[in-house]
Formats: sequence, structure tokens, C-alpha cells
Amino acid sequence: MDEAPAILYTGAMSTLDPEDWSGLRALGHTMMDDMIDHLAGIASQPVWRPMPEAVRAAFTAPLPREGAPPPALYEAFRATIQPYVTGNTHPRFMGWVHGGGNPVSMLAELLAGAMNANCGGRDHVGIVVERQVIAWAAQMLGLPATTSGLLLTGSSMANFVAVLCARMHTLGPVARTQGLNGARLTAYASTAVHRCVPGALDMAGLGSENLRLVPLDGQFRMDISALRAAMAEDIAAGCTPFLIVGTAGSVDVGAFDDLAALSALARAKNLWFHVDAAFGALAALSPAQATLLNGIEQADSVALDFHKWAQVTYEAGCVLVRDPAIQEASFAQATSYLAASNRGLAGGQPWPCDMGPDLSRGFRALKVWMTLSAYGADALGRVVADTCAVAAHLAARIEASDRLELLAPVGLNIVCFGVTGFSDAQTQDLVADLQEQGLFAPSTTMINGRLAIRAAIVNHRTTRADVDALADEILRQI
Ligand SMILES: *Cc1c(COP(=O)(O)O)cnc(C)c1O
Repeated sequence: MDEAPAILYTGAMSTLDPEDWSGLRALGHTMMDDMIDHLAGIASQPVWRPMPEAVRAAFTAPLPREGAPPPALYEAFRATIQPYVTGNTHPRFMGWVHGGGNPVSMLAELLAGAMNANCGGRDHVGIVVERQVIAWAAQMLGLPATTSGLLLTGSSMANFVAVLCARMHTLGPVARTQGLNGARLTAYASTAVHRCVPGALDMAGLGSENLRLVPLDGQFRMDISALRAAMAEDIAAGCTPFLIVGTAGSVDVGAFDDLAALSALARAKNLWFHVDAAFGALAALSPAQATLLNGIEQADSVALDFHKWAQVTYEAGCVLVRDPAIQEASFAQATSYLAASNRGLAGGQPWPCDMGPDLSRGFRALKVWMTLSAYGADALGRVVADTCAVAAHLAARIEASDRLELLAPVGLNIVCFGVTGFSDAQTQDLVADLQEQGLFAPSTTMINGRLAIRAAIVNHRTTRADVDALADEILRQI
């Protein structure tokens, strides 16, 4: 690439902008072309590449005192960063629960970067767009139009915000200033709950062990009679049950708790009912899967991610709270430098900084708004239905093979399977081999005491041909 003489300002002033924008403009156009080529050609790249030591070592350099020309930095990006990312844009990435992203969201990130809006507060369009996105999420799940919410990094933070709302519901504002004052709050979730939920109780100072892990029934859902028994035992021991967390789309097998039953129980006992629907929430957009979410419309709060099944680029988590007053009461703080005003830029209350833990916040809402607007909810629903169909296809391939076996029912988009007769160590090696060969990136999980190969079909780019190739390759290598 031609090195323009002064892409950045080199004079005595301290501005970071160039004197002449043409060099930066040309570099930006090159980057844009390359990144569109990157996405268009992603299927022909390895899914993942281990980083060579020399590349790793390049990131242990001392703080640069002098700048380097952006074209050279971009060359470094192409050589040492672009090849070594997670790989979740690739159709053959099937590990964990990772969304594939989408090109409109990529472009929206460029626009958001140019606006550089701080969405912690004040009266500007970034917050209006975010409220639109929150309203859409509530509508998608059948929650009331008055539902409040917030975009956050991910469902880990969304679950944390929900736990603090539940604490407010039970103990009132005094818990914010005085702590628990001897209250022994207990919460309930199934043993399949995501690790961030006990993490949220830990961070909230409530103690992760005060999240009681209720056993699963035969369909990998929280066993309701065991839940009742656990609550009764805690009440008898002088504890105060305050929160039931339903899981909508468990990470291991994609199971949905009986949300209607959980919500009825929570309501009867005046407990807060939260649903961790990190990826499962998007099932609401697919008629074939939507009934799995029955009861979510009764939730007091919901955590969901737009960066998983909704294919928005990372990060884009979201919390919804049925009662906006409880969300605000859980986080609002009065400070003179953030004082409200009913006109001017300091208007527009309530501000997001009073609805969650962050003050400065980026313009995440733009990429969510652009993704939902560009494709429409029905197309995202078709992605949900199609990924489930691809998973069912893989399940059928496995059932048809006498060397492979399903280790959990495939009710959604996650296929847990094993090689007949393989030890856990052999399974671990097989998965690591596939990853290191750059061919496929499934992950693993434990199912009933056995290590399973886990293929979660979340990416809109993954087709039947990709999962056929996975089954063929595994059968070839074992
Ligand atoms: C992914 C996931 C989380 C965590 O969400 P992050 O966005 O990674 O913070 C929580 N719960 C479930 C069920 C998930 O799938």
C-alpha cells in the first residue's frame, strides 16, 4: 500500500486528527473492502488457527512512546490479528453458544464509532434508539409496553442486574445502603443454570451458595416438586426465598424450564421471577419454537443476548424489567454533576446510568436497531428455525451411524453426542484435533457423567452440508 505522507497530524498541535484526510480515507476504504472480502470468503478460511509463539510475543511489547503509521499497523493487523480470532463468524464454528454476527451490524459499528455517543444519559438520539430496541425486545417476548430495560455487555451482566432488582423487590431500598442486615435470601435455579447466575449472587453479596440448585427432570428441566421441597426446607430453616430463575435454553443441551409453572409458583409466593433467556429468547420469533417460551411473558425480568441467535456483533446483551420503578430504584443515585433538567441536553430522564451499573456506555443500540431493521424479525425467526433444522439433521446422521451416539435429546439447536466406546480423554483429543486442524470448532460438555462432543448451531451461515461434513470427518478420523 502507498504510504501517504501524513495520515495523522505530525505538527506541533496536539489534535489526533489528520491535516489532510485523504490518506486516512484511502486506508479506511481499503479496510472496508478487505473486511467485506473477509466475510464473503469466510467459509474458505480455517475455522480457527492456534497462535504461533512469535505472534503472541508481538503483544508483549512495551508501551509505544512514538506512533507508527496506520498503514503499517493495518498490515500488522492483517498478519497477526485477523488470522487468530475466535472463529465464530465461520459456518463450521459450533462451539459454546456463539453468534455469527452479520455485515449490517459490522457497518453499524463503524457508524457508532464515528458518532462516539455516550449513552449513559442526557437527551440524545442514542438513548432514544436504545429505548426503541428495548421496546422491541419486550414486544418479542410478550412483555408489557411499559417494560424497561437496558443494553449491557451480555447476559452475565443482565442476570446480575436482575438479581439486584429482585433484592430491591424483597428488601426495599434499605438493602442498598445498609446491606442485608441479617436477611438470609435464597434463590432457586436448576442444576443446568449458567455459571453467571451463581456469579451474580456472589457479586451482589448474597452468596453463590444461596442459589439452590434444583435437580432436573427427565427432560432436562427444573423439577418443580423438588423446587417446592427446597423452598419449604429453606423457609423451615429461617431463610427468605426471594427469586426463582428459569432457564430458557440451557447451555448444555438447550432445554427450556416450564416457565409458566415457575411463574405461577413465584407469583403465589411473591417471589421475583427472572428468566435467563440468553440465547433462547430468540425462539420467540420462530413459530415452531415459540411455545417453548410460554410463561416468559409473566416474568419480572429477562436476560437475553442479541449477540447469539440474533447475530448482532459482540457485545449486545439486554435486560428487561417489567416494573421500571423497581429497576430505577435499584440503581438510581442522586449526584449534583448528573442533575436532572427538564430542558436542554441534561433532560431526557430517566437516564440509563440510573437503570444499571454503568455510567459511560457506548452506542450498542445502533447495531441492534440496524440488524433488526435490516433483516426484520421474521428473517431472524427463520434463522432460529433453520439452525434447529440443521441440528436435527446432524442428530439424524448420528442416529443412523453405529459408531456415533446421541447423549441428550435434541429439542433445539444443540447436539450432544459421542463416539461409541470412546473414553473422555479420546473425546477431548478428537475435539482438540478438529479445532487445531482448522476444520471444525465444536466444544465439549459433561452429560450424565460422560464427556460429550457438543455442536451448538447458532450461526446463520451453518448449513446441512457443514454438519454432514462434521459427521463425515469424525467418522474418518476415529
Ligand atoms: C451465553 C449465556 C449466558 C451468558 O451470557 P454472556 O452474554 O456470555 O454474558 C448466560 N446464560 C445462558 C443460558 C447463556 O447461554
